[in-house]
Amino acid sequence: MTKSTNNLHIETLLAQAGNRTDDDKTGAISAPIYLSTAYRHAGLGQSTGFDYPREAQPTRCILEQTLAQLEDGVAAFALSSGMSAIQLVFTLFHSGDRIIISDDLYGGSYRFFDLLHDHYHLEFSVWDGQDQAALAAAIDQQTVALWLETPSNPTMKVIDIAATAKTTQAHGIKLIVDNTFYTPLIQKPLDLGADIVVHSATKYLAGHNDILAGAVVAKSQADADALAFNLVTTGAVLDPFDAWLLLRSLKTLPLRIRQHEANAQTLVKVLQQDPHVSKVLYPGRGGMISFYLASGVDVNKFLQALNVISFAESLGGVESLVTVPAVQTHADLSEAERQEKGITANLIRLSTGLENTADLTADLAQALTAAAK
Ligand SMILES: *Cc1c(COP(=O)(O)O)cnc(C)c1O
Repeated sequence: MTKSTNNLHIETLLAQAGNRTDDDKTGAISAPIYLSTAYRHAGLGQSTGFDYPREAQPTRCILEQTLAQLEDGVAAFALSSGMSAIQLVFTLFHSGDRIIISDDLYGGSYRFFDLLHDHYHLEFSVWDGQDQAALAAAIDQQTVALWLETPSNPTMKVIDIAATAKTTQAHGIKLIVDNTFYTPLIQKPLDLGADIVVHSATKYLAGHNDILAGAVVAKSQADADALAFNLVTTGAVLDPFDAWLLLRSLKTLPLRIRQHEANAQTLVKVLQQDPHVSKVLYPGRGGMISFYLASGVDVNKFLQALNVISFAESLGGVESLVTVPAVQTHADLSEAERQEKGITANLIRLSTGLENTADLTADLAQALTAAAK
């Protein structure tokens, strides 16, 4: 990505990602996968820019430049999973620091934050994601950052990132957004005032239920430099094959998001009309839907009756998947915490795939009917 790419649209940047990166050697349109872990130096003090792959790796660099452009950051880092991306961000903090978190996060994030609290003495307090005055009041001397997910998982609450960024900026703390659910095609947290974005790239960015990956994007050079140093130190980088596959996947992200969303918007209407569904939670955009089965509808029968949609963890891929958050993604929360958040046993989370809309509608309708018998 050299030359005047700044004024190009995101579809163009992504479709062209990696092209023209090998022009001085082969002219390859699809970026090469470099596997070498060692790079020859022409002499003392000389380097091609690549010395050792934990620091920089050619295929991963192309991916990272693309991720930075996608989120409007100064730099991006491609990691071996979403959790390792989250872990990298926490290398910026110290024992005794307080991080405020929004109240309905990915279950694995809770598990990690518990570990940070128990083993490393970081402090966490919870914010409801809505009341800016309460957020301002919760920021004390110890507080260094606010961590949020919007829409939230699995209850699809939306947090106003721009309004929240005003509060965090006024108090001099960092705003970090897990943008896995919406992706930068729907919202760009850095443009709205956030400092750092993280992704489980396993989900929409990769989009095919076939690689585990994470990303961190920084808005400031100071954060980028600190993250780069800490990543070289800790080492959970993405491998060359998966970096290439993620780069290849990003080329179709705009098309995929458009169809995920179109399918989801149709399914929301269908589910709202279905007597076997008591409530539908949809944040208005994107491909993720949660819904409550009406009383008398058997969860297990519903899952077993689905023919097209699969009962499986994960989200954001071409294949539609359903999960039961209470027993899967959020199983580590206490029963009381789950009740309070509305994560009850009849809550279903649907990741709408790219199948024909009518086939998905029919599959849901027949499974709901079968489960009510
Ligand atoms: C899946 C997920 C993660 C964790 O990412 P992995 O790639 O599974 O390590 C973090 N945040 C959100 C919102 C997720 O959905």
